Amino acid sequence: MCIFDWDVHVGDGTSNCFWEDDTVLYLSIHRFDLGAFYPGPNGKHTNIGEGKGRGFNVHFPFNVEKSMKSQIGDVDYIYACESIFFPIIKEFNPDLLIISAGFDSALGDPLGQIGVTPVGYAYMTQNFRALCPKIVVALEGGYDLNALEVSSEAVIETLRLHPKDNEGFERLLHTLGCEEGTTMEQLRIKSLLHPRESFK
Ligand SMILES: [Zn+2]
Repeated sequence: MCIFDWDVHVGDGTSNCFWEDDTVLYLSIHRFDLGAFYPGPNGKHTNIGEGKGRGFNVHFPFNVEKSMKSQIGDVDYIYACESIFFPIIKEFNPDLLIISAGFDSALGDPLGQIGVTPVGYAYMTQNFRALCPKIVVALEGGYDLNALEVSSEAVIETLRLHPKDNEGFERLLHTLGCEEGTTMEQLRIKSLLHPRESFK
């Protein structure tokens, strides 16, 4: 089983549950701010599990700095998924994938203060389904009702599609605000072309 956590906070409780377990792969991307962001240093990248579970905890922390020219959002999350998370999940080959779906990473959330949009959540969901057809999306919440609504709706609309329905997914991207004709591949390439310095 694999748990992917896109909540803006590290899921340190979940991570601890499977700390020494090599049958559950826990992956998290989260705001870190050099340990200053809640829940503190638990989210550092060197937390990889222990014993049999060593290497089966993957933490991807990022820092939000005042000097950043643009807000962390879809391209950064897609980049992290394409370059790190998707290959690891593919190799682990889980029989079940659970998304810890906290939408405090969404654009407009007052706590997370980053900017993943419905397009980013849809992209991740559709790709996860290609990696593991059996998928559970567990709603964890979020602190902005509008962001929570549009983000969770995008995930549900994605789940309603067939995992291989590329045309349907492209139509969905358009309804979510992408230019008509935007493809998954274009989003992937865009994210990989100019990764943020701190994400490399
Ligand atoms: Zn959270």
